[in-house]
Order: sequence, then C-alpha cells, then structure tokens
Amino acid sequence: MKEILQDHSLAELQALILAWGEQKYRAGQLYRGLMRGKRIAEISDLSRTLKSRLLEKFEDEPVRIAETFVSADGTEKYLFELADGNIVEGVLMSYKYGKTQCVSTQVGCRMNCAFCASGLNGLIRNLTAGEILGQILAVNARQGGTAEKRAVTNVVLMGSGEPLDNYANTVRFLRNVTAEGGICISARNISLSTCGLVPKMYELADEGIPVNLTVSLHSPTDEERARIMPIAKAYTIADILRACDYYFEKTGRRYIFEYSLIAGENAGRAQAERLIALLRGRPCHVNLIRLNAVPEKGLCGISEKDAYRFLGVLERGGLSATLRRTIGADIGGACGQLRAKRLGGS
Ligand code: SAH
Repeated sequence: MKEILQDHSLAELQALILAWGEQKYRAGQLYRGLMRGKRIAEISDLSRTLKSRLLEKFEDEPVRIAETFVSADGTEKYLFELADGNIVEGVLMSYKYGKTQCVSTQVGCRMNCAFCASGLNGLIRNLTAGEILGQILAVNARQGGTAEKRAVTNVVLMGSGEPLDNYANTVRFLRNVTAEGGICISARNISLSTCGLVPKMYELADEGIPVNLTVSLHSPTDEERARIMPIAKAYTIADILRACDYYFEKTGRRYIFEYSLIAGENAGRAQAERLIALLRGRPCHVNLIRLNAVPEKGLCGISEKDAYRFLGVLERGGLSATLRRTIGADIGGACGQLRAKRLGGS
C-alpha cells in the first residue's frame, strides 16, 4: 500500500508541499479538497504535475464505499473497501439533532467478546488515522455535505475494533477530525467506546481531547464479566471505575456504560440490583442495548418487554439509564455482522 494523505494534518501537508518546492497555499487547496472527500485527481485547482507527484506516493482513494444498504427508517450501513482490499463497516443514523456516524478502528478485533461478530476472525490489522477519517469523509460527501456544512454531525467509535488497542492512530484521528479548518467535528460530539483497556483510558484522559468516554461493561461482577469478555481477566471493574473517575476529573465529561442484555447471562433482576449498588451516585449514564444475536456465538437477546423491565429497575434505583432504540434492523447487524456476511460467515 502507498501512504495515506488523510493521515496528515494541514501543518504536515504544508511541510510536505514546501519540501517539494511548491507554494504553501497549495497545501490548503489539497487539504480542502481532501476534507470534501475528493480524490487527488478531482481536486481541480492543483497543477497536473503536483497531482501526478502526489499520486505516485499516496493512495488516491484509501477508503471507498463498496456497498450501501438503506433502511426504511433512514439508517444507512456501509461496507468500506480499503486500498489493500480489506473491508470494514459503518453506519449512519439519523436523529432529530443531526446524523451520527459509527466508524471502525480496526479490521477485525482481538478482544474476542463472546457476543461480538467483529472478533470472529481475530485482528487482521489496525486502521491508520486517515482510514478512520476517510470513512467519515466518504459518507459526508455521499450525503451532500462539505467541510463547511457537514452532513455528518456526530461520530461514535463503535464499529469493528477496539479503539484503545489502536491507540496512536485513534488519537491522531481524533486530533485531525476535531482540527479547525478541517471537517472540524467537536470533541463533545464524538464518543469513544472501549471494552475497558484501563491504562489507555488514563492516557486518553491526559490527551486534552475531551470526547465522551463509553465503556462496555455488560456485567456488574468480574466473574460474570469474564465469562463474556476475556479482557475482564486483565482489568477489574474497580480498576475501570477508578479510570472513569479520573477521566471525569480531567475532562468534566460524564461517562457512559454500555450494557448489552443477554438472555440467561446478565439480564436478571439480581444483575440490575448489583448494577445499582455499583453505579449509584456516580457521574454516569447506562445505555442498555438488546443483544443482536450472532448465530456463530449461540447467545440470545431478551424481549423488549423484559428490557424495559430491567430499565425500570435501574431507574427506580436512582440510575440515569436508557434503552437504545433499535434502528435499521431490517438491514441487518451490529458490530462486524455485515462484514462477516460479506466474508461468507453468517
Ligand atoms: N471495542 C469497543 C467498541 C466497539 S463495539 C467496545 O468494546 O466498546 C460497540 C458496542 O457494541 C460495545 O458495547 C459492544 O460490546 C457492543 N456489541 C458488540 N456486539 C454486539 C451485539 N451483537 N449485540 C449488542 N451489542 C453488541
């Protein structure tokens, strides 16, 4: 693979362009074109020589929308093809306040959670910062947005992969996507979801990029959590809560716990009570999700009625909690399911 232009900040592009003996403003033209989702060849204000020089060194289209699935409710799911032929997936969800794009940070994943399709074939490779950003640039352009008037208003790092297991590229992406003059999505409109890589949660708190931190908890006790999330053997829930409090101290942002309700595992009355005891009084919110069954994994979700009952127990216990609305169900799949289908899995 050639290098990826979208990995770079405007300042880095300026340095490159100057080193090539070109005028500095050319970097601005290049950057604006890239932020509009254009290919190098399509940026009309660059000279032909500069374009061919760029094309020798860099990928022209590092992230291409290979397939789009449109749901009756307006949700769109995408399969993105990377320059080396690897596939990742993403979703765009429409809400009253704007559009939220879910992006992937790795091809596959090595966390191997029992309910998740992303880890079915392990980790293939990390995405570069520009490949993460490229998913947004491609979708924003497809939706008719520009860098100035964005169609994509919010971003969640909840596609395939564990963002904190690809730390340097993820942080570089966060700096570039929030940069003035670029697509400039504010950190408060970005949520990073982690299975709880505690040391990296502390590092992130110190980066000065106050994104919303979301932690996949899925169980109130270490023993039960370890049954569905191997990472629970490395870090305890107590470790996670300390790191979350540090994050809150540093950023002032309330943290969020994801809790996917799995029949016979974590969705009983006893778990709800333990969750209340664990989280009451903390500056946090609990986001309940009904498991999207992955046939390969042999786990089932619970009914909507039971999910609301679980939610009611949490609310009466004093927790701030919501049950995530299921959208786009007619076009299939959570985390890694579209890709698995494409690769001949489910
Ligand atoms: N690796 C990160 C982010 C990706 S997953 C993390 O673990 O947080 C985004 C969320 O979807 C996580 O909370 C994950 O546990 C959850 N998830 C994965 N597969 C799911 C499924 N089949 N049904 C419901 N939630 C799922």
